[in-house]
Amino acid sequence: MSKARVFLPGSTIGVMGGGQLGRMFAIAARRMGYRVHTFSPDEDTPTGQLADREVAARYDDAAAVRDFARRVDVLTFEFENIPVQTVEWAAQFCEVRPAASVLHVCQHRLREKEFLDQAGVPLPGFKAVASAGELAAAVAEIGLPAVLKTAAFGYDGKGQRKIAPGDNLVEAWAPFAGTGAVLEQFVHFEKEISVLVARGADGQTATYPVCENVHRNHILDVTIVPANISPAAEAKARALAAGIADKLGLVGLLAVEMFLLADGSILVNELAPRPHNSGHFSFDASVTSQFEQQLRAVCGLPLGRTASLSPAAMVNLLGDLWADGEPDWAAVLAMPEVKLHLYGKAEPRAGRKMGHLTAFGATAQLAAERALAARDALRGSLGK
Ligand code: AMP
Repeated sequence: MSKARVFLPGSTIGVMGGGQLGRMFAIAARRMGYRVHTFSPDEDTPTGQLADREVAARYDDAAAVRDFARRVDVLTFEFENIPVQTVEWAAQFCEVRPAASVLHVCQHRLREKEFLDQAGVPLPGFKAVASAGELAAAVAEIGLPAVLKTAAFGYDGKGQRKIAPGDNLVEAWAPFAGTGAVLEQFVHFEKEISVLVARGADGQTATYPVCENVHRNHILDVTIVPANISPAAEAKARALAAGIADKLGLVGLLAVEMFLLADGSILVNELAPRPHNSGHFSFDASVTSQFEQQLRAVCGLPLGRTASLSPAAMVNLLGDLWADGEPDWAAVLAMPEVKLHLYGKAEPRAGRKMGHLTAFGATAQLAAERALAARDALRGSLGK
């Protein structure tokens, strides 16, 4: 195998996608003396506001993609639903990490599950479904309750529907008609956890302490680190994530979302080959943030230490928080154990991720209480 190329400070990193993950990546990269270019269909994006150069063009604009790739040394992603064709155009002109093959697996739920299944990774029972008839057959095999999910382009619970006993399957299928879907066994989990793992160009892996996640309306709400789980579960989760990164041949960062069951077993829910919302704590609370780690991995540098500097908790700030006007920033900025992150998005739509808070504490539970109290204070509920 030829030696992997190394990109040192002064190099230019291209980021496909323009959201908050790219924004925080750009902050980490620019801090270390790299230049950052970003490509997405939009202008004045969260990433573009921090980048040296922002290109607004469609992912299927071959000329724009090639021109973008010519001007960067290495290309990475903050969003995995980029057409593989786009990545292949770019790969003619620059290094691409992670490789198109990793995106190909991770941007399609069914391909991802089949890959994991073949790799021997424990998963909730699943079955591919392409019609109402196949849904009935899948229900007979998997049982109810179950969750029907679109095969492609789903995130944050979009394109999902729980199916309970007695539901009309023809009606349940209607919104999925014309798309591939997967029926998945409903898991009565004890906790949702996630593991961030980086894999360098030399095949070395580094996992972060396990995150414990609470979702609200299918969107991540709170993450605490370290997770309140047994040392055995912690070790098993980290080993699973490292094994998946190896099997993917990943060069970059991967988040592995998992369900922890009452009997201590773990099932993998899904993969994201990029920084992840549950890893935001690391920006303030880790020796090496997930964004710096992504940079290190894609630049062929040694990986940084993943240990936490403090127990921490992260809460998301969704657009809903703006319902009664501008949140009370001053209240939160007066809290010395709380860090405010805002993503530079102009329009606070309901459900839109606008920012997050990270809080520190002697334990992750105390940090979580602080983070939640801080979010309440933003609503002005602690009395202005
Ligand atoms: P996903 O988009 O697949 O990550 O799903 C979003 C959220 O829906 C997950 O974080 C879980 O809270 C819930 N969920 C998804 N799949 C299942 C399942 N098979 N059983 C129970 N809950 C699920």
